[in-house]
Amino acid sequence: MSKKVLVIDDSPFVYKAVTKALTDSEYEVVGNALNGSMGLEKYSQLKPDVVTLDVTMPIMDGLETASNLFKMNPDVRIVMLSAMGDETLLNQAKEIGVKHFLTKPFKPDALKEKLAVALQ
Ligand SMILES: [Mg+2]
Repeated sequence: MSKKVLVIDDSPFVYKAVTKALTDSEYEVVGNALNGSMGLEKYSQLKPDVVTLDVTMPIMDGLETASNLFKMNPDVRIVMLSAMGDETLLNQAKEIGVKHFLTKPFKPDALKEKLAVALQ
C-alpha cells in the first residue's frame, strides 16, 4: 500500500514538484495545504503517513505548525522543506522536535530517501 503524503507549503510550485517527484513511487500525495492552519485541518482529515512542511508561510508558519502537529500526534512524521538561508529557523525547528530536513529545490531521489528515513 502506498504511503500517504500531505504537502503543507504556500507555494503551489512545491506541491507540483513533490507530486511529480513521487509519481510512480511507493508514495501518494493525498493533499495540499497553503498554510499551517489549513495544514492542521488536512492532517486530521487525511491522516497522512508523512508531511512535508514549509518553513515560511502566511497565517501559520512551519514552526508553529510543527509544534501543533506534535501536539496532535507525538509520532507525526515530518520532513521540513526549507529554502537556503533559513538556518536560524531550522535550529528552532530542531528544538521543537523536527528531525528531517531537505533544502529546496530538491532532487526526486533525495525527497524519496528523506521520506523513507522519516517513516522508519
Ligand atoms: Mg513558503
